[in-house]
Amino acid sequence: MDSIHGPSNGPIDRTRALDAAARAFAVLQDEQLQKVLAAHAGPEIPVPRQLFVNRNLHFSRVELVGFDMDYTLAIYHLRRLEELSYQMTIERLVSVKRYPDEIRKIAYDHAFVMRGLFIDKKHGNLLKIDRFGHVGRAYHGRSPLPDDVLQTLYRNERIRLKNPEYAWIDTLFALPEACLYAGIVDLYEKELDQPCDYTKLYDDIREAIDTVHRDNSLKNVIRRDIGQYIFKDPELGPALHKLRSGGKKLFLLTNSAFDFTRAVMSYLLDGVVPEYPSWRNYFDYVVTDAKKPEFFSGHHPFLEIDQTKDDNSTLGEATALERGRVYKGGNLAAFERFTGSAGESVLYVGDHIYGDILKSKKTSMWRTCMIVQEIEDEIAYLESRHDEIAALAQMEGLQARLDDEVQRRKVRLNQVERRLEKHDGDEAKNEEEFKATKAELDRVRRALKECVSVVKVIEQDVEAQFNRYWGLHFKEGNENSRFGEQVEQYACLYTSRVSNFVFYSPMHVFRSPREVMPHEQAGALSGKLGLMGSEGLPKASLRAPTDIP
Ligand code: IMP
Ligand code: MG
Repeated sequence: MDSIHGPSNGPIDRTRALDAAARAFAVLQDEQLQKVLAAHAGPEIPVPRQLFVNRNLHFSRVELVGFDMDYTLAIYHLRRLEELSYQMTIERLVSVKRYPDEIRKIAYDHAFVMRGLFIDKKHGNLLKIDRFGHVGRAYHGRSPLPDDVLQTLYRNERIRLKNPEYAWIDTLFALPEACLYAGIVDLYEKELDQPCDYTKLYDDIREAIDTVHRDNSLKNVIRRDIGQYIFKDPELGPALHKLRSGGKKLFLLTNSAFDFTRAVMSYLLDGVVPEYPSWRNYFDYVVTDAKKPEFFSGHHPFLEIDQTKDDNSTLGEATALERGRVYKGGNLAAFERFTGSAGESVLYVGDHIYGDILKSKKTSMWRTCMIVQEIEDEIAYLESRHDEIAALAQMEGLQARLDDEVQRRKVRLNQVERRLEKHDGDEAKNEEEFKATKAELDRVRRALKECVSVVKVIEQDVEAQFNRYWGLHFKEGNENSRFGEQVEQYACLYTSRVSNFVFYSPMHVFRSPREVMPHEQAGALSGKLGLMGSEGLPKASLRAPTDIP
């Protein structure tokens, strides 16, 4: 077929490419090479512990690897910490904000909240949205929002992160506030029969939880029994040691203050690896109270911490960052100047999609790795449902094909019907063709109906058994969730925990899977590279309508 731009450039000369392909074939056939590869293949890394790659990263080019602390180096026992900050927030709401005693009865429900949800502060709803900003699921209080209300409120609305009417649950620290918000909305409206000022409620909860963090009441409880709240990952020390042995410098950049940082880091790392008696031995630079995301765009000076005291007092402004000393505050430009490492030679590992990952990506050239501890459970779950998910992919391919086939047969039936009405052509033949096409249409329609029902049942079951309220973290319907999309867009790498670095060489080349756009999937590449989504089912669009004009 001629291009819409006229005749093509002429015949393609394939000589060079075919020659190269033959050489590639020879490499693949090299038995000696296969033996070498097999002999040195390490143990397979379990999928939930792998590092996943959105953008290629040559680890050998990274000089400096930085870590956030809370929910990154320090993995909290999620439910225990959530429960603790939930209870402390409730106490504050009752004692300071004069909320009714009844809110003490609202139980914490871990399943009801997940990272990536949005709170609609104007209407008192909790939302899960897809990558385009469309609302996929919504709850008012603890009840699903009726479809018609959801349509009325959000059909024409794209939820944007910057819109102040919405609050984004973008860190694990924020899960309790979402749960409490829904619980109090319900209590007011269903039990106390009182109107609820949704925006004020959100602001009150936010202020209470913020205070619980800032006045150290939460941290004091954690410090009294750190083992109760923080999981001591035995592979963390060895993983950091491996990075250092590979020639990387390491730094710690946390928003926590020095006293808390010291308590947590000592618990996690002191004496774990014989070469490193103290946690400080692992890190070339330690920055506390960093005020991320401001750190990445602001101009706060670095202040040196007086480590002889436990009150975070400082010794004055720092003119260099030195190993063994601890700092507070600071900013990106000064950090790069003092350390002599900048841009792509720095990899920063953090858990907060906005403060650690998005903001650093937007204001610097640092490479990023996001810690998403939730994916261990999600991957294990998806592996356990592998057969149903494979069937789902097949059925979705078939559904597209059947949809197409129904349309073609309808058109055909119309054409024959018109011929019959106009007595155009051989009547008997037309009758026969009408019957045959009608029978085919019925059959295809029945199959399509069945297919749609099967897809719906499997899809709903797979999602609901993971989380009956919200489904999967990274998906919303057929699309990536907004959370999934943000991870993909801003994190070069993502993984479930820092210790997963222990499985990789400090020279590793992290390669993202080849990205394929829809037109490539549908076109020539699909056949050659086995990229068909539906395991061999031909896409409807690939078939020319030869059977029916
Ligand atoms: P990082 O993750 O190591 O940077 O530290 C996060 C710090 O932020 C911890 O000290 C948390 O206690 C603190 N934090 C989390 N949520 C809030 C909040 O809502 N207000 C104030 N501090 C918070
Ligand atoms: Mg953190």
